[in-house]
Amino acid sequence: MTKLSWAIAILAVHGTAAPGWWMTEPIRWVQTNLRQTDANLDAAHLVGQLADMRANVLLIGMGGIAAYYPTAVRFHYPSPDLPPGRDMFGDVLREAHAHRIRVVGRFDFSKTPKAVFDAHPEWFFRQANGQPVIYNGLYSTCINGGYYRDQAMKILAEALDKYAVDGLFFNMFGNQSRDYSGREVGLCHCDVCQRKYRALYHKDLPDKPDDDYRRFMFTSSREVAAAIGDLIRRKRPEAGYFNYIQESTDGIMSESNTAVARPLPLWPYSASDHVNRARNSQPGKMAVDLNMQFVDYWWRFATVPRGEIALRAWQDLANGGALTFEVNGTLDQQDRQALETIRPIFRWAAGHEQYYAGETSAARVLLLGAPAASGRAFNEDAYRGLFRLLSEEHVPFAVSDNLEWQSGPAKRAFDMVIASDWAPAELRQYAENGGKVLVASARAPEFEVAAVVRTEPDLKGYIRVRDRAAFPSLKDTSLLMLDGPFTVLAPEGPAALTLIPPSMIGPPEFVHIDMKDTDTPAIVTRPIGKGSVTWIPWNLGGLYYRLSLTAHAGLFHDLMARLDPQPQLRTDAHPLVETTLMRQGNRTLLHLVNLSGHSETGYFPPLAMKDIHIEVAGDFKTAQTVRRPGNLAVTTAAGYTAFTVPELADYELVVLQ
Ligand SMILES: [Zn+2]
Repeated sequence: MTKLSWAIAILAVHGTAAPGWWMTEPIRWVQTNLRQTDANLDAAHLVGQLADMRANVLLIGMGGIAAYYPTAVRFHYPSPDLPPGRDMFGDVLREAHAHRIRVVGRFDFSKTPKAVFDAHPEWFFRQANGQPVIYNGLYSTCINGGYYRDQAMKILAEALDKYAVDGLFFNMFGNQSRDYSGREVGLCHCDVCQRKYRALYHKDLPDKPDDDYRRFMFTSSREVAAAIGDLIRRKRPEAGYFNYIQESTDGIMSESNTAVARPLPLWPYSASDHVNRARNSQPGKMAVDLNMQFVDYWWRFATVPRGEIALRAWQDLANGGALTFEVNGTLDQQDRQALETIRPIFRWAAGHEQYYAGETSAARVLLLGAPAASGRAFNEDAYRGLFRLLSEEHVPFAVSDNLEWQSGPAKRAFDMVIASDWAPAELRQYAENGGKVLVASARAPEFEVAAVVRTEPDLKGYIRVRDRAAFPSLKDTSLLMLDGPFTVLAPEGPAALTLIPPSMIGPPEFVHIDMKDTDTPAIVTRPIGKGSVTWIPWNLGGLYYRLSLTAHAGLFHDLMARLDPQPQLRTDAHPLVETTLMRQGNRTLLHLVNLSGHSETGYFPPLAMKDIHIEVAGDFKTAQTVRRPGNLAVTTAAGYTAFTVPELADYELVVLQ
């Protein structure tokens, strides 16, 4: 960015309600989670390292548990390693701004030293037995207590008055029910939580989080989020507000991370999932999915596979999010593998930054995510299975956790909406107006599609393929595996797929000899208004997520061919090539991310793929590749523009105009 455009960007934000820098500039974001012992770091050295890798945003420790600047606010303490008279944060801010690197200050109000607890015990998290939560001598605060609600605002007011920060970020927002070591601490039973919960729900706090409690915590954290947002906008309107939540913020943070005890399978689409979901749920906000370098809390200095760092980076860029990298401590790491992996990607993105700002999704298919505000549990496996199927089918799709695409300022047209575990009543209206809806879940849609008899919580049976012509991909099987919940619908004439209930499984002499067919439909399609709703009343997505059966993928493929007969993209690309279709001004950007290096928990360099034939709906005159520079020959016919990408290594960007 030139000096002039930098100045214009600042003026634009000050003078009008124009979008902030986080929406208009390409973002290459480095987060250094400082330790308090880093409080005497060499600002020029750190900023030199950032400039060398061409980072343009630094997220760095500012205050909360430890302040990295002299502070005059009560109950806020500078790091014991901050030398008297030293203003580390101020030094970093000055150096960074001199190099046109923006600075986002990090705060953590979730814990404080004991002195605060001694003075104001009522501000703190109380376990059910009345004990506070203490971790390495720090006391956990409660999101509903006076520390978050009042003291934090004083601390932030001082910080915002003193420093021309480009944004603020907050860690651990809300009451965590387990500590860093994985110890369960349960729910907060402080006086405020007890009183407030009783007033809202007319009952005592539960032992374990239920739907009401999740809603309670959602509301509590959003109240604090809104207060912080107001304060930032009042004190420093050009600064951005970044947090792990979608409400009241300017940038939606998330993490692509690992944990040794997390159940497999590993989710290699993590960064794509987070960025797609954030950018399309809140199109006016930036998605910052942190590319976490470490393996787990116990090993903050050990790096995840290098290929995983690289893959997340390409996924960030391909979905219109910030390019990111996170480390603990400074950039002087003992394990330098992640840093050495990300640096060339940052430099490459800087060299082509004109393509990585102001992108929006051009997808015409929507996958619904989780309705967070409702507090109800959401079947993540079912969602992920459908996410994978769409990606492997090369269907450009957007993810949203809300219905703002249907009405309101973010209104946007989709040809088709797919629901995994949340099919709200509003989808009926969408279908009436001509939309196609696909619901794949035993949980009934919140509007009438077919007469529900009952839901079986766990059926280990099969699905019979009855209408063979409708499912050409299933030509080699008459049965599909069924495991999990199944909603029995009243039969209404012949169904294309039907239920086969459980039968004997042993000994081998007896296997399925009592197998019986039924007329119970395993799929129904109903015309509604000008559109239609197709309901698969079992967990297709969840089964595919866990088992990856070819038959389930074939069923999905054939359904998409029928419901979306004019897809935006046709290609012979391998299923492990992620394709995203984005719009940037008057050009269309097709991103290809090569996922073929991923296997089990391993990430290796992806296998190069040759001669990928692609047809994109629309009439384009030119197709230009950027990663491996080239001008591709294009032909247009029947509403599609066709071209061939000669080679895909790790990532490619095709610019269509
Ligand atoms: Zn509380």
